Amino acid sequence: MNRGGWIATVNVVATMFLVACRTPATAPTWQYRIRVIDQQPLVLEVTAHVAFPSSQPCRFLLGQDIGASFLSQVEWSAGTIRRDGDQWVTESSSSQGTLKYRVNVEDLGRAVRRVEQGKSSGRSWMLAWNTFLLVPESVPRWQQTRVSIEGGAKVACALLDSSNETIGSAHRLRRGVHLVFGQVERGRVPVVADDGQLLGSVEVALMDGPMQLPHARLLERVTEVFAAAAEFWEGLPVDSILVSFFPIPGRDDVLFGKVLSSPAPTVCVWIGAECRPDQLRDDWMFMHEVLHLGFPMTRRGKWLDEGMSTYFEPLVRARAGWATEQEVWEELVRGMPRGRATLEQRGMLQARGIDGIYWGGALFCLLVDHEIRRRTAGKQGLEDGLRRLFADDLCIDSGVFDLSQVARCLRSAYPDNVWDDLWARYVEGSAPVPLEELWGSLGIRIRGEQVELDADHPLRHALLTGQPLISGNPQKD
Ligand SMILES: [Zn+2]
Repeated sequence: MNRGGWIATVNVVATMFLVACRTPATAPTWQYRIRVIDQQPLVLEVTAHVAFPSSQPCRFLLGQDIGASFLSQVEWSAGTIRRDGDQWVTESSSSQGTLKYRVNVEDLGRAVRRVEQGKSSGRSWMLAWNTFLLVPESVPRWQQTRVSIEGGAKVACALLDSSNETIGSAHRLRRGVHLVFGQVERGRVPVVADDGQLLGSVEVALMDGPMQLPHARLLERVTEVFAAAAEFWEGLPVDSILVSFFPIPGRDDVLFGKVLSSPAPTVCVWIGAECRPDQLRDDWMFMHEVLHLGFPMTRRGKWLDEGMSTYFEPLVRARAGWATEQEVWEELVRGMPRGRATLEQRGMLQARGIDGIYWGGALFCLLVDHEIRRRTAGKQGLEDGLRRLFADDLCIDSGVFDLSQVARCLRSAYPDNVWDDLWARYVEGSAPVPLEELWGSLGIRIRGEQVELDADHPLRHALLTGQPLISGNPQKD
């Protein structure tokens, strides 16, 4: 089929889908209202108004399997409701009604087992809303839902607007969007492109605990890091983002980070309570985590996700002026050999452990980036594929994808068959990695512990800056 015919077919199918999924004109929007009614212990009251096309008994359940001992006073306006294990079932059929119940946040905080479900710090709680929002078992495809926080409660959430509410598909209720309650310092920072264009904003929550750094400095750091990442991505791949800082007493560094995927992804950062501004500037962990926002969740693709962040993190920090060229190449020269055995002996689909997943993935990224830049005189690079992913909506907030689908999209962004060749050699298979030759081709000489850089090397410059070669022609095979 030619391209025109294909597009026409897609349009017809898309139109049919939209007609099938369009919200009926009379369908009321479901309303979920969350109100803080007590602070000691912290208790929420949730009021959920739902309606259905026809009368039916309704079964309400949570999106996480963590019990329901933290829920109480469950009432249904259209008749009686009984508990069935960790679910609630209405006794009679009705086409609409209001469910009302209470959530003991402190008990819920003790029930969650994984950070994806929630995490507390002192008197603050970060909780995925699917741990406490009871949702009907059957949700019509077109159902719109308004979620609002009422009563002037202090809460941080990437999805909430200035009126503390959000409207979207009811299916979002089943996924783990995070809300932060309690003693939280919150803020929202703009993400601005180099040319002054406003790209979006990031919600920030500083969890309860001692922190030497002024809150304003943390907000400023979020602004700086996202501006650097946005310049690299040439935009923001995700509309709604929450960054949660967890203070760790007795430490002065950034200890650990994790990105939690959802329709509004959360970047969690565990930061030393005694961290100073200069340590914040020298930290690499936060940038590594933020770069994950530019890569979709995949099945069997953790090595590529971690490889992208590990490889690009020092390059993006150098582009922002937070690392020198010497520091970047010293870090990569030290790290890349750790991933070599995976590419040479088992292939990346069999990657295991930190060395295999992080550094094996980073080495594969370096090999691809190097080859693309070499063949295109520096005009294109691995990072062009990330922008193609955003264009095709293969994003961290839009679901979980097959690695093959992501690889197909990336491949289409690169010249010749660079991606296929290296994929066959090092991902599906295993083969020797000409690493010493690669360093030599970048004007990098390794003498014992010393890393020496030839001055003004055009290909190395292109990898570092993402800019075309200053002079010279692409090297021939
Ligand atoms: Zn990572």
